[in-house]
Amino acid sequence: MRLRQASCSCGQLGLTISAAPLRISICHCQACRRRTGSVYGVQARFDRAAVEIRGRSTAYARTADSGARLTFHFCPDCGSTVYYGSDADPQQLGVAVGAFADAEFPAPTVSVYDECRAPWVDLPSTIVRHE
Ligand SMILES: [Zn+2]
Ligand SMILES: [Zn+2]
Repeated sequence: MRLRQASCSCGQLGLTISAAPLRISICHCQACRRRTGSVYGVQARFDRAAVEIRGRSTAYARTADSGARLTFHFCPDCGSTVYYGSDADPQQLGVAVGAFADAEFPAPTVSVYDECRAPWVDLPSTIVRHE
């Protein structure tokens, strides 16, 4: 199994992941826009047991529209969000796909809050859309 490495901008906070992603999604909601500074977030979920975390992080928690409590972990030095957890599924961790800085990372298969998608954002035709 190939190891995947994710990190913040400065490299202080990083992950080593020894499993394939379980789900890769793109989210167009306002909270993901504000968190990332982009017009959507892209995240991959992994089995938490396959994720090794190194470095310090600061946590920011918010309640999702689903009612789940999401806790985002970002580097206190450079501010990049690297990963997050949900109390609805403690066996998984979400990782910001940009933190891999890997152009070969697989494409998202799910588009969430698709009704909020910027009209100029094109997605793969096979993607599953959720309002
Ligand atoms: Zn950093
Ligand atoms: Zn979102």
